[in-house]
Amino acid sequence: MDYLAVFLSLKGRRAVVVGGGQVAARKVDALAKAGARVTVVAPQLLPQLAGRAAASDLEHVAAEFSPEQLDGVALAVAATDDAGVNGAVSRAAQERQIPVNVVDQPSLSSFIFPAIVDRSPLVVAVSSAGGAPVLARRVRAQIEALLPARLGVLARFMRERREKVRRALGALARRAFWERIAGGATASRVLAGDEAAAAEIFARELLNSQLGASKATGGSTLGEVYLIGAGPGDPDLLTLRALQLLQQADVILYDRLVPDALLERARRDAQRIFVGKEPGEHAHQARINELLVELARAGKRVARLKGGDPFVFGRGGEELEVLTAQGIPCLVVPGITAALGAAACAGIPLTHRQLSHSVTFVSGHAAFDGSLDWRSLARPAQTVVFYMGIAQFPRIVARLRAAGAAADEPAALIEQATLPGQRVLRSDLARIAELGRREQIASPALLIVGAVAALAGVEIAATAAGATAVAAEALA
Ligand code: SAH
Repeated sequence: MDYLAVFLSLKGRRAVVVGGGQVAARKVDALAKAGARVTVVAPQLLPQLAGRAAASDLEHVAAEFSPEQLDGVALAVAATDDAGVNGAVSRAAQERQIPVNVVDQPSLSSFIFPAIVDRSPLVVAVSSAGGAPVLARRVRAQIEALLPARLGVLARFMRERREKVRRALGALARRAFWERIAGGATASRVLAGDEAAAAEIFARELLNSQLGASKATGGSTLGEVYLIGAGPGDPDLLTLRALQLLQQADVILYDRLVPDALLERARRDAQRIFVGKEPGEHAHQARINELLVELARAGKRVARLKGGDPFVFGRGGEELEVLTAQGIPCLVVPGITAALGAAACAGIPLTHRQLSHSVTFVSGHAAFDGSLDWRSLARPAQTVVFYMGIAQFPRIVARLRAAGAAADEPAALIEQATLPGQRVLRSDLARIAELGRREQIASPALLIVGAVAALAGVEIAATAAGATAVAAEALA
């Protein structure tokens, strides 16, 4: 290791930055965030630094650098474009045993600024020892994407309860307890922005641990369920939160619509249970509900992974109801619903300032149970997306026509949106059903009806190889 990685406390201590430009301003920001009293030595300041000086946020010494300016300071930074000045700052600092950084010159520096991910009080610092700053920044960006935005809130939440836990539990139980908190329902609740629920679960966990600790079991864990929207199929369309929770779940229950490539993003050693059901199998849903409750009761963190969004034709509402009634903590993570994925792939905007002012998602299953207002669905200047039941598409089209939709109303069929087998068929209401039959469109697929379906957007292939796309089919 070229450097010792440490975090330096600068609260209330003086730091000197030599230079008044853009680079100096960034260092001043970093030092001020850490609570340092910053002095900037520069004949002239950038407006943003001058503003800070005017607000007494920093002290400005409007002069050339001279070594005695470093007397009694805690840290020095040289950020001028004059090699002579930078060298002088480095020498003066090292003579005084003050940590010094010369921007972009590791050989003149005794410390370097890392690239940071700031979830204060939790901070991740990345360094390439000054050798490959671009690489360090890329690593930083990757870590940034992995860490939940509210991780700092979680760190604070845990810090505020440290003392209480210290009094309540012995050293051994304490460590196990904090492990469970950081990886369990309390943490997932804080990270989802619900601190009140987190506080409640935390209190239950602590009580459990206190009771359990006396039996030397260390207490039992409360399980929980994450109802996760997996998106339309392409694993890169998972949300960051979906990914974070998938990587901590012990068990994964998944549907037919969830491809293997997506399951690979889950924790390696997680148990995977396929619960895909055929349409209309109602008893099956009851079994899924039971399984969710059973697993959560056994203390498991259960990811219930559903295609698209859990609350769009996903029966997520029913599962949530069952879990809530049983007092099982449950988190809902939205996903990109198939209509949005398909529209993006086909280059079809679902609304459009000239063509469509509303969009309706309709279940093709229930299309003929009398619950739909076909006259309203057949009106122009809107977009209607039919999910499910490819078999029903010809009847749906006929019904729209009967309710007054024009024969030349544009329509598109999109199969396996965002997946390697993605296909887009475009036509109009008079011909789309026949086109779908001829091309043997298969599940999963959806039908988009409305003027927007005619927009000749650029079709975006799902994944590279093997993507067959029948674009802008013209049925003459
Ligand atoms: N909860 C899901 C929908 C489940 S219903 C969501 O929000 O997307 C299942 C129906 O969704 C399928 O019959 C099909 O109409 C549609 N669907 C799901 N994934 C699809 C995909 N990749 N391409 C096209 N349609 C899809």
